[in-house]
Amino acid sequence: MDLKDARADVIAVGKQLLYSGLIVRTWGNVSARVDDNHFVITPSGRDYETLLPEEIVIMNISDAQSWGDILPSSENGMHLACYRDCEDIDFIIHTHQTEASVLSAYESDLAVAAEGTIFSESVPCADYGFPGSDALRDHVAGAFDGGRHRIVLMAHHGAVCMGNGAETTLRYAAGLEMISSYYIRRAFESYVGRRLTMADSPYALILRDQGIDFPEPENAPDLLSSEKQGSDVIFHLPDGSAVLLSDALAEDEVSDTMRLHLTVYEARPDIGAIRHCKTPSVFAFSFLGDPLRSYLDDFAQINGSFMAQSEGKNTDVAEALADHHGVFIHGCGAFCCGKNMNDAEAHAIVAEKNARIRLLAPIFPDKPLNPLADEDIEAMREFYLKKYSARFEAKV
Ligand code: 13P
Ligand code: ZN
Repeated sequence: MDLKDARADVIAVGKQLLYSGLIVRTWGNVSARVDDNHFVITPSGRDYETLLPEEIVIMNISDAQSWGDILPSSENGMHLACYRDCEDIDFIIHTHQTEASVLSAYESDLAVAAEGTIFSESVPCADYGFPGSDALRDHVAGAFDGGRHRIVLMAHHGAVCMGNGAETTLRYAAGLEMISSYYIRRAFESYVGRRLTMADSPYALILRDQGIDFPEPENAPDLLSSEKQGSDVIFHLPDGSAVLLSDALAEDEVSDTMRLHLTVYEARPDIGAIRHCKTPSVFAFSFLGDPLRSYLDDFAQINGSFMAQSEGKNTDVAEALADHHGVFIHGCGAFCCGKNMNDAEAHAIVAEKNARIRLLAPIFPDKPLNPLADEDIEAMREFYLKKYSARFEAKV
């Protein structure tokens, strides 16, 4: 393929993955084969929306060297191994797409048999390997089995799809998400012993079996979102308006909820934004009382080893947050935090996916669910905070 077209396809697919929600932030990566010895790949940790053609890195297949000064995706070795092993494919997409990633945490092959489609055989799950490692590269390339499969899950991480042409490969990624969601629904139906209807709230059914009842998220209190601006704090209110909390505000104008935010900012100078998250899994999980362990690499990177629960009192929210970036508030969802609102939003997205994994455990009774190892989490978090997010921020 012409270099210019290959780069254009990579950029266009990156954007489509972002807009369709199959990729968030700078996670995932996309590549296209140019000829027998070259492919082009997205750079590491850069915003998909603003990528320029010259930032799509050229790589040699024979000696794994990249051209130019821009760092290629940290998964370039995995892409290279796939192009080397599967000569007939020319496009690769790696995502952290929600439903497939949820299933990847259960570390087992996806037994689907949609006859006449790319899913007529099962989707294998490659063993866990640290992101960007040779082990991950070898596990993924091995799972593709020389091109016998086109789609592979990556344990505790996401998925890789490879194919002929950008459009076909993009369809595989979207199809995988649909198939994964269908697979989860079928497991749910065999857990409850009947078809689910629109009136069912799946998490309510699971939690009720554990003796826990919870209301609809709309009825839970709104604990606001806020951002620091110098020494002031801007609060976003449920009606869409904002209020600036500065020294000028009288004591009685500061609500208990606002004080809760201020305690977090006081305890953690590195936090610049707090987002109150009430999305379905996070809200349901906040009734459990258990800490949420890390089951996926992206959650481990952005949050650390676990997310604790608190009762929502000023002192214990900051204490339960400890050195992590998120904390559940009993029966109210969670505070997802970050350096800025963009980071806090990213935390909310990965927390929702990670909580979904843990909540669904009862519907997969024959699939053991294990959290990531502490030493891997520590290494990932260190890499994310010191190196990876710096790449991202350099661009925005
Ligand atoms: P890069 O930004 O280096 O491509 O990494 C993203 C990712 O998903 C790693 O697995
Ligand atoms: Zn990844």
